[in-house]
Amino acid sequence: FFVVFEGGEGSGKSTQSVKLAARLRLRGHEVVLTREPGATELGTRIRTLVLDPESGMWPSPRAEALLYAADRAQHVAKVVRPALDASSVVISDRYIDSSLAYQGGGRAMPSEEIAWLSNWATGGLRPNLVVLLDIDPAEGLRRATSGGADRLERESLAFHEKVRYKFQDLASEDPSRYLVIDGSLPPDEIAAKVNERVEQLLAA
Ligand code: C5P
Repeated sequence: FFVVFEGGEGSGKSTQSVKLAARLRLRGHEVVLTREPGATELGTRIRTLVLDPESGMWPSPRAEALLYAADRAQHVAKVVRPALDASSVVISDRYIDSSLAYQGGGRAMPSEEIAWLSNWATGGLRPNLVVLLDIDPAEGLRRATSGGADRLERESLAFHEKVRYKFQDLASEDPSRYLVIDGSLPPDEIAAKVNERVEQLLAA
């Protein structure tokens, strides 16, 4: 069972991933909690190249898309697939839809191309559920950047609004795979909604 948390900056994905992992472990599941970019050794290097303003790399939009795809290919090969093969529940903080939203929506690259690239990178592995934590980017950025901003967090508010709309579009195109939750709700309320849907799917 593969569940992904998606959303903009400061939407609470990391908090909710940790809560879900703890809850499922209490119920006796083996859980692998992971994230993109940066879950593997290669991914950690890619994350620095692509996000650290001090790296001085400034990848072009196509180079950036390929770097995220390379991170994802390694992540799926080394972490996600082996864990699923061992019957663990995998919880990932970001996956393919982040590329569709940031590179497709934010950078306005053709979505079909980003989708094709992601599909190629992952060998077609798709999650059973995507939880979208939807939040006003002005609020999210305030939450996310209190400790300093990475390269993407320094993008304009308009960029982050395009990202948000793209996430919302993706969710409305595939409602059976998505759970959309207002990211400004109290964390425990969000967690309860997530648990309800995950329990349903695990029981099915
Ligand atoms: O905080 P988090 O680990 O989610 O940060 C990852 C950063 O990478 C975010 O700032 C996000 O904007 C960026 N990102 C991206 N495209 C992706 C995945 C992540 O721009 N495909």
